[in-house]
Amino acid sequence: MDNQSSLSEFHWIMNMVQTIDAGLVVLDKDLKVQLWNDFMSNHSGVSAKDMQDTPLFSHFPELPEAWLRSKIDSVFLLKNNAFTSWEQRPYIFRFNNYRPVTGISEFMFQNMTIIPLASLTGEVTHVSLIIYDVTDIAINRLQLDKANEKLAHLSQTDALTQLANRHHWNTLIDSEFKRVKRYEQISTLMMLDIDHFKKVNDTYGHVAGDKVISEVSRVIRESVRETDFSARYGGEEFAICLTNTTASCAVILAERLRKAIESTLVLDDGNVIQVTISIGIAEFKADVESVDHWTKNADSALYKSKESGRNQYSIL
Ligand code: GH3
Ligand code: MG
Ligand code: MG
Repeated sequence: MDNQSSLSEFHWIMNMVQTIDAGLVVLDKDLKVQLWNDFMSNHSGVSAKDMQDTPLFSHFPELPEAWLRSKIDSVFLLKNNAFTSWEQRPYIFRFNNYRPVTGISEFMFQNMTIIPLASLTGEVTHVSLIIYDVTDIAINRLQLDKANEKLAHLSQTDALTQLANRHHWNTLIDSEFKRVKRYEQISTLMMLDIDHFKKVNDTYGHVAGDKVISEVSRVIRESVRETDFSARYGGEEFAICLTNTTASCAVILAERLRKAIESTLVLDDGNVIQVTISIGIAEFKADVESVDHWTKNADSALYKSKESGRNQYSIL
């Protein structure tokens, strides 16, 4: 190859390096910049001339220095490529995102590959950082994750009460049962049922009935701890599981709930509706064989409350 043709080849290569739609940075062993292509100048606002021969980190103090240094060191040492994904770290260089379609992100999501560059003697004297703009991919993925999360929430939540639905309850109580059974832990199950609810429907109508169910649920939602979980078990029946709580401690919540619901006034179409609830409490015991068994115990206690005049709790 004569000098002229190798010169024009070099010219083409440099042209490609400069105009490629990815960031290219070449660093020497002191991490001083030896090449800074157009992509990097355009997005960072710092020209190649200003970057030339200056330490990368002195220009970009916001870079994750310790992390990036160890990545680059390992490429020098092992002579292998290294790769980082936006999922680990959304970006390396904080560049603004100007893409019209994915304008919802303020910054550019980036993947990066670090490649060892060997001299003619085979010694790795430089590394090249290649920065890829993956904003479109990242935004699509994040939106999909968000939609899936929303769907999961919808599929687990009862629309009227915003409590867990029966299906989700089954999953939760199943794993709680396994936990307490295996580790001999404490947990208490509580079943609640609105008293004489048929009368509410008959007197005020189904819509008013729904409003009462929704208000009772609100009181339940606001009363349980983060570690507890509650659900709409059936029409106007609710279930609460109090983790790490004995039946005698659960009584405190039961009584608080009973009083709060008794004193809640539900307004509907000029009517003031008041309801009470009956509660059954069953602590997990070593002889409880299954979730069904545990639930039956709480149900028996609930039945006792109903039998004894309603608006009260009973413990099995
Ligand atoms: P008890 O004190 O023995 O519990 O009497 P009750 O009238 O409440 O009897 P029960 O619990 O068996 O009745 C439940 C009623 O709740 C029957 C049903 O018509 C009504 N119901 C169930 N689901 C809904 C609902 O989503 N909305 C409304 N408005 N009513 C419902
Ligand atoms: Mg009822
Ligand atoms: Mg009922």
